[in-house]
Amino acid sequence: THFGFRDVPVGEKQKLVGQVFTSVARNYDLMNDLMSFGVHRLWKRHFVAISGVRRGDRVLDLAGGTGDIAALLKPVVGADGEVVVGDINAAMLGVGRDRLTDRGLVSGLRWAQLNAEALPFPDNSFDAVTMAFGLRNVTDKDKALADICRVLKPGGRLLVLEFSRVQNALFNTLYDFHSFKVLPKLGRLFAGDADSYQYLAESIRKHPDQETLKGMMERAGFGKVEVRNLTNGIVAIHRAYKL
Ligand code: SAM
Repeated sequence: THFGFRDVPVGEKQKLVGQVFTSVARNYDLMNDLMSFGVHRLWKRHFVAISGVRRGDRVLDLAGGTGDIAALLKPVVGADGEVVVGDINAAMLGVGRDRLTDRGLVSGLRWAQLNAEALPFPDNSFDAVTMAFGLRNVTDKDKALADICRVLKPGGRLLVLEFSRVQNALFNTLYDFHSFKVLPKLGRLFAGDADSYQYLAESIRKHPDQETLKGMMERAGFGKVEVRNLTNGIVAIHRAYKL
């Protein structure tokens, strides 16, 4: 079957997103490497490096199932800080928790199955919220942004790393070819799963571009929103503050 999300009622999107991530959970690293030629590792490192997260901070990493961002954040917040990893999908959380435990990363980490649209935390709980390659999958993004703002402490920051709009026309043509012609084939070949890769390529094209997402953050109550493009806008980092 083909995940044509455009034709699916909103209520069912969540279920389908769940299926996609349950089916890719185990091949997740492979998928990221195929999609980005391995560059996602550099994007994530850069994301955490410019996050402004400090020793002692309490950070919520949303859609953090793989543990990639948490593994980079934990050394930054140190022993007196905490990283809470929140993800809607139990399989993704399981993979991430196992992986970080194998690397000896246990204390100061918490794992919570949750929906980014309705966070189970009191107001003003976190110094920072990070979300890498997650917002794209959230059904009601405005609701999620508003709830993220609520759980941040005043002055706290939101950092979103997400696919965005490629800035150069020629590069965009190559990128489309890779995404729609090459990627689903690689997905079938290496992971036995072309549909999930097709969904990912489509969801990337439908995600709000740099300026649109900035406007959504401002409407959700954030200020001082800054945008940085990486790799010609294939991905962008939005940094915003709860004022
Ligand atoms: N942050 C990780 C990374 O960069 O490798 C994982 C990104 S993965 C592409 C997207 C994640 O978003 C999946 O683990 C999925 O379960 C999660 N997700 C999707 N919708 C969500 C929601 N409404 N609330 C929380 N997590 C969600």
